[in-house]
Amino acid sequence: AKRAGRGVTRLFDEGMDEGIRFRRRVEQGLAEAIDKGELSLVYQPIVSRGELEVIGFEALVRWNTEEYGPISPATFIPIAEESNVIHELGDWILDSALAMVQRFPDQYVSVNFSPRQFRRSNFVGHIMESVQRAGVLPSRVQIEITETAIFDDAERAAETLYKLRQMGFRIALDDFGTGYSSLYNIRKFALDSLKIDRSFIDGMGRERESAAIVHSIIHLGRALGLEVIAEGVETAAQVQALRLAGASHMQGYFFSRPVTPELAIELAVQRFLG
Ligand code: C2E
Ligand code: CA
Ligand code: CA
Ligand code: CA
Repeated sequence: AKRAGRGVTRLFDEGMDEGIRFRRRVEQGLAEAIDKGELSLVYQPIVSRGELEVIGFEALVRWNTEEYGPISPATFIPIAEESNVIHELGDWILDSALAMVQRFPDQYVSVNFSPRQFRRSNFVGHIMESVQRAGVLPSRVQIEITETAIFDDAERAAETLYKLRQMGFRIALDDFGTGYSSLYNIRKFALDSLKIDRSFIDGMGRERESAAIVHSIIHLGRALGLEVIAEGVETAAQVQALRLAGASHMQGYFFSRPVTPELAIELAVQRFLG
């Protein structure tokens, strides 16, 4: 029993080493990825409920590494988030997205900010400087943050959001429904929209609970004067159900996967309704 125990420990240690080594490589790799040109952004259209017009694009980062091939942002963003690398990465993402929005006829670009970026001192000044340098109006930029970013220090977050909104940025609360936000507290934050997490959209056709949650979020959004964006929309049935339920906007593979800048510009003038 003792021997088996030790074996297990060793396997576990090796697993840990492997994990730590991977994290370290990712962290170092990210620091160089920008200069090496390994990063890119792809853009996924966000469409209006009625006319299915493309009203904006969410920018999503991609990293093609020499060593591991493409790594998902779901893997490397949390690693970057644990160190200051997130700032350099975030700056590159923002600057690239701002350069891109100039090429869209009138859509906004929706940029994801991690909690650490959002809590950075002088986040407001920093983002304002970036848009000014790029010559972009704040109204063409949507800032996506998650509940985690705002509920830890709600008072400070509320102030930051208020300032950003005063300046004309759009604010979207991402992955809504998965975090800890109390519905009650949502009122305190200057928001423009709620993005319903795709897990609820996914479950809509199968489980009554998911459908009920989707309906509640839409009603809540309406009651608070917020737009509601449904993400992860994959089927015509979901589109139908979401339109009936009154979602303001939709995003998902049903309309388009995230695409290259060139394709995004083509999609910008397309309408998804025949
Ligand atoms: P997210 O912000 O919730 O982004 C939506 C994710 O859902 C994207 O995954 C997108 O490609 C995927 N998606 C969109 N429509 C569908 C659909 O119909 N079905 C399915 N199954 N998936 C869909 P992606 O690009 O892999 O990004 C994963 C996460 O990584 C993002 O989740 C976000 O949290 C983070 N991330 C991505 N890009 C950035 C970035 O530039 N900055 C920051 N801070 N985080 C980012
Ligand atoms: Ca997002
Ligand atoms: Ca999301
Ligand atoms: Ca998500």
